[in-house]
Amino acid sequence: MADRRTVLILGGTADARALAARLADALPDARIVSSLAGRTSNPVLPRGETRIGGFGGAAGLATWLAAERVTAVVDATHPFAARISANAVTACGEADVPLLRLQRPGWTPEPGDDWRHVGSATAAAALLPEVGRRVFLTTGRMETEPYAHLDDLWFLLRSVEAPTGPVPRHCELLLARGPFDVADEIALMRRHEVDVIVTKDSGGTLTAAKLRAARALRIPVVMIDRPEVTADQQVAAVADAVEWTQRIVA
Ligand code: NAP
Repeated sequence: MADRRTVLILGGTADARALAARLADALPDARIVSSLAGRTSNPVLPRGETRIGGFGGAAGLATWLAAERVTAVVDATHPFAARISANAVTACGEADVPLLRLQRPGWTPEPGDDWRHVGSATAAAALLPEVGRRVFLTTGRMETEPYAHLDDLWFLLRSVEAPTGPVPRHCELLLARGPFDVADEIALMRRHEVDVIVTKDSGGTLTAAKLRAARALRIPVVMIDRPEVTADQQVAAVADAVEWTQRIVA
């Protein structure tokens, strides 16, 4: 099957898994390869072929695309996985492979929301002492260091796996994976007397309940805005990514 078309999905998200499943059905003659960074010890694997681990920067990815004769790349990584997305733009440019960015829309505030927008975790940490004392930190185990020096604040740190980097001195760890329920989120925040939430603008429904809970409890949210998308072509829905890939591969 030397001329079998190969599609690379840069994954690690629920949308990437949905895309892999949809493409397996839509393009039964193509080779669909999902790539994972290898960060989680027990990842939910997508349908079809999977490769795990970094490529070695943009140059390594460009080499991989050429060696595997890749026809199309869909970057379905998390909105905050900025490095691999930038590498995909560079590598696909070099290897002359069409690239699509699949990224679900960000969250939009509703009446009653009190969101304080910041551009980074460092900016969130700088703002926090002005906003609250008991922080619900939901930005993941990889990004605890910017908050580690905030000795006067208390943190409820929720992540899928335990953080390995520095954490704040007053910190309770809660290991949990979404989806989360609004009533449970309200109960959790009440129990811990949370008075501010920190979140990335990840979008989607899986973890949105905390925002509705914050609205109900009138708690401010420090919202870390997304990095800019640099790919030329971008869609928000898995169905549109399927259509794009079919067009390229046909
Ligand atoms: P990142 O900072 O953009 O990437 C760091 C390095 O990890 C990349 O340079 C690349 O290494 C490798 N990498 C990242 N995603 C990869 C993939 N899908 N396949 C192969 N290598 C990959 O990424 P991150 O923020 O650490 O995220 C890592 C993974 O977790 C991504 O797959 C992302 O979708 C998922 N994720 C991230 C978040 C988040 O908040 N950042 C949340 C949920 C899921 P090389 O340069 O060696 O190729």
